[in-house]
This record gives sequence, structure tokens and C-alpha cells, in this order.
Amino acid sequence: MNRIALFLTYGALVVSSLAHLSCRSNTAQATDLSKQAPKADPPGGRRVVKTDAEWKKILKPDQFYVLREKGTERAGSSSLNDIHEKGTFVCAACKNPLFSADAKFDSGTGWPSFFQPIAKNAVKEAKDYAFGMTRIEIMCSVCDGHLGHVFDDGPKPTGLRYCMNGTAMQFVKKQ
Ligand SMILES: [Zn+2]
Repeated sequence: MNRIALFLTYGALVVSSLAHLSCRSNTAQATDLSKQAPKADPPGGRRVVKTDAEWKKILKPDQFYVLREKGTERAGSSSLNDIHEKGTFVCAACKNPLFSADAKFDSGTGWPSFFQPIAKNAVKEAKDYAFGMTRIEIMCSVCDGHLGHVFDDGPKPTGLRYCMNGTAMQFVKKQ
């Protein structure tokens, strides 16, 4: 009887430590996930969800390639690079305001670059492991369209460089 009791106690200990381990790893995963994809409730709770076929009807082929297939436009190819007026850069797919022209700077990369989004929840982040690199992808928080990546070599005040595809955005001049 004693042996059985010992066995049961040992078994319970193993189970509880396994449960503990799995709890710990779950917690760690949850923490990590929350870091890589901050809960960005989109502005006004607005969401735009469409199938690829529906997006293809609305977007030009180069816009579809960047926004829906996570492509990258050729450096220096966007007319938005040269915009230095007051206004707002909005998502080309759903018109969600993304960046103020006030946060735009010349990064010399050939892609429209900003030091911060117009609102914290205007964009959302995800880890991107493509091409053997670990980068932080930036998406529109309303339609999940791919916009570009964020890097930590930007200017003050944030030190961030939001490296965006001009194809994924439109400029709305301040009236
Ligand atoms: Zn969008």
C-alpha cells in the first residue's frame, strides 16, 4: 500500500511540475506574442476584410502585390518620396490615415520614411522572418494591408524609421 501511495504521490508531483512547465511556457509565449503584435484596436473599431479576388478588383496590380502579397516596391520608384507638403498619408486600400506629413523625413533609402504613425493604433506590427532576417512588419490596422517595416535607426524624437512602400499609400493634402 505504501508503495502505491508513494507511486501516486510521485505521479502527482510529475504531473504538477509538467503543468507548471506548460503554464510557464504559455505565459512566456503570451508575453512574446503581445510584444510582437500589440493589440491595435483600429481607429473607431473600423475593419475592412475582403477576399483576394475582391481586392484585385479595387487595387492596381502593383498595389495588390505590396498590400496583399507583402511585396516591396523598387527603391526610389514612389512619387510620395518627393512630397513635403502638409497632409496625411492614408492606406491606398481602405483610406485609413497612417502617417502625418509632419513625421516624414528623408531617410535616403528611396522609400517614404516616417518617425511615427499618426496614431498608435493606425498600424499594427508582426514579426517577419523572410529572407533570413528578423524584421518588424508594419500593416494597416484596418485592412491588414502590408505597408513596410519599422527599424530602430530613425531620427528623434522616437528613434524609429517606418520604411514604407509608397504604393501602399495615398497622400491627402491638407486643405
Ligand atoms: Zn488599410
